[in-house]
Amino acid sequence: MAQIVAKFGGTSVSDLQRMRDIATTVKSEVEAGNQIVVVVSAMAGITNDLVALAREANPLHDAREYDSIVASGEQVSSGLLSLCLQEAGVSARSWQGWQIPINTDGVHGKARILGIDTEKIIKRLSENQVCVIAGFQGLSPENRITTLGRGGSDTTAVALAAALKADRCDIYTDVDGVYTSDPRIVTSARKLEKITYEEMLEMASLGAKVLQTRSVELAMSHKVPLQVLSSFTGMMGSVLPGTLVVAEEEIVEQEIVSGVTYSRDEAKITLLQVPDRPGVAAAIFGPLSDANVNVDMIVQNISENNNATDLTFTVARGELDKALEVLESCKSELGFLASVPDSSVAKISVVGVGMRSHAGVAKRMFAALAEHNINILVISTSEIKISVLIAEEFTELALRALHSAYGLDKT
Ligand code: ASP
Ligand code: MG
Repeated sequence: MAQIVAKFGGTSVSDLQRMRDIATTVKSEVEAGNQIVVVVSAMAGITNDLVALAREANPLHDAREYDSIVASGEQVSSGLLSLCLQEAGVSARSWQGWQIPINTDGVHGKARILGIDTEKIIKRLSENQVCVIAGFQGLSPENRITTLGRGGSDTTAVALAAALKADRCDIYTDVDGVYTSDPRIVTSARKLEKITYEEMLEMASLGAKVLQTRSVELAMSHKVPLQVLSSFTGMMGSVLPGTLVVAEEEIVEQEIVSGVTYSRDEAKITLLQVPDRPGVAAAIFGPLSDANVNVDMIVQNISENNNATDLTFTVARGELDKALEVLESCKSELGFLASVPDSSVAKISVVGVGMRSHAGVAKRMFAALAEHNINILVISTSEIKISVLIAEEFTELALRALHSAYGLDKT
């Protein structure tokens, strides 16, 4: 007997027929003697509609009411899927976050899970009942409904799997696994059989939108065996294998680079003639961080005459205006000449734990980009990742070039 947490995303529960298909899959797992916890997202598009309604009602909405509105999508899908399971002859009931409860902090809109009381769920599972849990939602210390941030059902599923010490956490989505690059752009991209938590974490935060970043962090720290697979292929009990997200030790033949990702959600700001004196970086990035603007890549030139230098950094595109406003407000105090924004940039990254033990990975990246005449604007690296900022128009070209350069193309 295995205990499995299976999460179904919005496109997997987009209509009743898809829910009936899921019920068939779940039924076969139950008949095989397994205990099943199902976590559902809202039906495709519903959360977006709810967010839009909340914004329309009041652009400066009370975040507690926002959460009670947007959490309702999962209430509907958990109830509907329970009905479909019952219809298929499977004992099932829905659970809202507050009924379990899934306790979170009070940061509405992006709450963190503090703990899950698994007692009632364990009891129902032992009575052979399928527990259909509304993802994305929890309960605050003030007894209000919270949500975990967009894509948060992944985190609900992983947190439950960790709390229950489940044998597996399967994330069913509309892609059949994690790819070496975006298959819509790089047609030679391959599905990875296995990927490490760390690589998945980098890829998730770099824009590969398969899993919510926080769910991967949680899986890594609790060593939850994760699998990403499609609910569209091979349903009816014969699901095709997806991608396993595992610890590094579990991958025998590690590639040097596992994936090439991109993010267009980037903007670059260059501050011209920043006075070159101690404390100036703190004076620039302090106010930005106080305004909740996340700064990602940073380059600073060394000043020749020792008194002024240019400083370039990147922020999320949606935060460009806010960042410029903050900078403008402290311009005279900082004493820079001008700020030059550029929002037509993209970040391209190569990711792989194999980088730790192999030399020449960066060289290959720079050579491949040079060969295609792509200019690098900013570079940043971590132990298992190299990122470059380039003009957005070269995104596709760069992805394809790097995918080939690292030998990732399917043969
Ligand atoms: N329904 C929520 C969203 O669209 C949560 C999720 O899908 O994971 O963000
Ligand atoms: Mg999702």
